[in-house]
Amino acid sequence: MKVLVTGGAGYIGSVTTERLLDAGHAVCVFDNLGRGHREAVDGRAELFVGDLNHPGEIGAAMASVRPDAVMHFAAFALVGESMQHPEMYFQNNVVGGLNLVEAMRKAGVPKIIFSSTCATYGVPERVPMSEDLPQRPANPYGESKLLFEKMLRWYEELHRTQAVFLRYFNACGATEKFGEDHEPETHLIPNVLRVALGQSPAVSVFGGDYPTPDGTCVRDYIHIVDLAEAHILALTGNHTGPFNLGNGSGFSVQEVIDVAREVTGHPIPATVSPRRPGDPPRLVAAAEKARTVLGWKPRYGAIRTIVEHAWAWHRAHPRGYRGA
Ligand code: UDP
Repeated sequence: MKVLVTGGAGYIGSVTTERLLDAGHAVCVFDNLGRGHREAVDGRAELFVGDLNHPGEIGAAMASVRPDAVMHFAAFALVGESMQHPEMYFQNNVVGGLNLVEAMRKAGVPKIIFSSTCATYGVPERVPMSEDLPQRPANPYGESKLLFEKMLRWYEELHRTQAVFLRYFNACGATEKFGEDHEPETHLIPNVLRVALGQSPAVSVFGGDYPTPDGTCVRDYIHIVDLAEAHILALTGNHTGPFNLGNGSGFSVQEVIDVAREVTGHPIPATVSPRRPGDPPRLVAAAEKARTVLGWKPRYGAIRTIVEHAWAWHRAHPRGYRGA
């Protein structure tokens, strides 16, 4: 199939592009290179540098590529930033998304696989979290993703657009070629590994008094190769609607640091600092629907494997893509 990947220069988009190409699909990446990296775009893909906020740019790319499907990763994705600048999130993730589906409609593109998030649920009523939980986002980031899901449901009903929402838990890990390079970096695993690389003296643990076994937050860490495989499975067939993507097992911040100490052989000093606003204590997926309906089988569920793969990439790219 021919797939247009928005955000293919970003972390999850770059790896999904790589896996799509490995599976024999043709890929065109559409990315404004604002937060992504040109070096993260697989050389086998065609790159369109353009911005979803400019309808003419995405419209022209869509009309010239005429893909069988769109995978939509391009978005802002930082909870803290969204609390400071909600307008950025509604502009880029909602208005940009609208420009994208309008370009699809005009070019007759029938299918979209959308990067959604467990942040659309907010603080969950119960854990593990299934797709039928109420969606009550606790920040503008989650709200912007939920608004786009809602918009897509109307496009589905009124324009027969086929829409799949993949609600990720904590994306992590790397392939040999592509890994995580954000500036500033806010995510736990790369921040822990920066300490092991000697680039930072200690990692801050945001909150040690949560109602969890060791007092630190619990998350469901899912390898980006497993996320990419779920996208490829969603490409075929007539699937629509939401799928949670996680391993179904939670690890605390403290446990992740302990695993990173074992993997890197570095003591990784850690200091407990205040809670980060908007962090729910425990987010763990119930991903049975993706397993049974899509036939998804995550292969890299072991937290040690995830940290090993991330560590291999960060050691090979200590300055991220700037040193590539
Ligand atoms: N976290 C931390 N120190 C850091 C970065 C993150 O203690 O330097 C915690 C964060 O508070 C959360 C967990 O690690 O409980 C995962 O955070 P991350 O930003 O990686 O992903 P999120 O769950 O926000 O999507």
